[in-house]
Amino acid sequence: MKHDNHTLDAIIVGAGFSGLYQLYCLREKLNHKVKVLEAGGDVGGTWYWNRYPGARCDSESHTYCYYFDKHLLEEWSWSERYPGQAEILRYLNFCAQKLDLKKDIRFNERVTEAEWDANSQLWHVKTQTGQTFIARFLITAVGCLSSANMPDIDGLSDFKGEIYHTGQWPHDTVDFEKKTIVVIGTGSTGIQAIPEIAKYAKKLYVLQRTPNYSVPARNRPLSRDFHSAFIEDIDSWRSKMLESRHGHPWIAPDRQVRKTSAEERYRIMEAAWEHGGLSFRESFDDVLLDEESNNIMSEFIRQKIMSTVHNVKTAKKLLPKDHPFGTKRPPIDTNYFETYNLEHVHLIDVRQNPIASCSSAGIILTDDTKIEADMIVFATGFDAMTGALQKMNIKGRDGLKLAEAWLAGPQTYLGLAVPKFPNMFTITGPGSPSVLTNMPRAIEQHVDWITDLLRHMVQRGYSKVEAREAAANEWTEHVTDVANKTLLPKANHSWYLGANVPGKPRVFMPYVFGLNHYRNHCDFIAVSGYQGFLITE
Ligand code: NAP
Repeated sequence: MKHDNHTLDAIIVGAGFSGLYQLYCLREKLNHKVKVLEAGGDVGGTWYWNRYPGARCDSESHTYCYYFDKHLLEEWSWSERYPGQAEILRYLNFCAQKLDLKKDIRFNERVTEAEWDANSQLWHVKTQTGQTFIARFLITAVGCLSSANMPDIDGLSDFKGEIYHTGQWPHDTVDFEKKTIVVIGTGSTGIQAIPEIAKYAKKLYVLQRTPNYSVPARNRPLSRDFHSAFIEDIDSWRSKMLESRHGHPWIAPDRQVRKTSAEERYRIMEAAWEHGGLSFRESFDDVLLDEESNNIMSEFIRQKIMSTVHNVKTAKKLLPKDHPFGTKRPPIDTNYFETYNLEHVHLIDVRQNPIASCSSAGIILTDDTKIEADMIVFATGFDAMTGALQKMNIKGRDGLKLAEAWLAGPQTYLGLAVPKFPNMFTITGPGSPSVLTNMPRAIEQHVDWITDLLRHMVQRGYSKVEAREAAANEWTEHVTDVANKTLLPKANHSWYLGANVPGKPRVFMPYVFGLNHYRNHCDFIAVSGYQGFLITE
């Protein structure tokens, strides 16, 4: 594409898994002039920010990595079944160095504004440091869970102790020894952090609003033999992941909980529990479709909690009852429920007795209970899927703000593009399978698809592409329809629905129908000449 020396072909926002791969593809396959703008001081995205104790991915290591380059797969060997945060950061640095990516990344450049200029048909992107970058395409690679959700607690600024949010964890060591610590939140993050913090704290108060289902991760070291066997079999791993709904290398068998005898299903669930990890949910294929089946599985987990936690009162408080298993993102854990057997760990139900305010000494609950603390850790999640996009103050055609366009909920075509926002792509955006999948598989699919579309445009001399409004409306309706055929919208407080952030529209955001079906559909759109997009010179 033709432009002056200052104008880029593309600006990519974010240097996590998606931004790095998108940079590689545009630079190496299309010879595009590209810059990545990254708010953090290095590569890593979510793994750069989420350094809280216990941070670990729940996709298995040899699947939670790039598959587009055989050398990267061969040369990197993972040390544990699930990759820890520090190891993932080392891995992404290794990839960035092998592919020579950092030279095109501007670190510590947080995007504060991006505006489409109709005259020049270019994006003008401003950053916190006062720089402006100009490009034909704007590609957001900001992750789905990167805008921290910090509850608005009266008096929090008066608290004299330390305050942390798990999603903005400091780079320096945080010392828990001899301290009384409050952790707020029992989602995947809290469930990982609580056992680790409990190892060092003098006293730990867990403030739980919604009890959660959690399945043991059964993490373990991986041997060199595992790596060699994996390398021998890469193609089979890849095809299993591509055929599956979630991008993990397992497929739910054609087997329903309700239609399996009580004895047999107990045997299956027990074996899956022992194996550990997210595949527990895939032991049957009707868990998210049939309430009665789901309840049987949910009850199995509730019994496991009752038999793990010694104090019956505490165990009962930990039983999830207000949502079906799997309708909130299911955490996997290492000794989470066991942690409540430690004498210095106390569970407080803040659904029954909500947090009222904060004083200089700690948290005050509605019944005036005072919890004095040296530190408060917020494991309160994210303004998921739309938060980071809206924070960038993106303006499309006629100055339309993305926040205005999405007032009633995100409206996208394929989760990839937004009408009235020409030449903008949203990697793993709302309306795509993203967070319901093993992310690197969803990311590689999106990046490959965007790259193919840009190649298609270069080859034909086109310079502008925009999703048609009718196509986006139809897609957004379809996203809602398929979600409503499952139990997923039944979790009242789920971030999938935006229900965790006060005032956020309640819309089921990820695409439920499966990464396999979604990929086929995107491929069909491409071969049909990019139906639903207006592509012009
Ligand atoms: P989350 O699932 O949204 O959990 C936030 C927790 O904070 C919930 O227990 C929530 O209660 C509670 N909370 C929020 N506001 C509160 C308030 N004002 N008062 C009291 N409690 C409050 O967030 P997350 O745990 O950070 O996880 C987000 C997602 O990140 C996960 O679902 C997963 O997709 C991803 N993640 C993945 C991994 C991994 O790969 N292993 C690890 C961590 C996170 P309610 O439920 O009542 O809202």
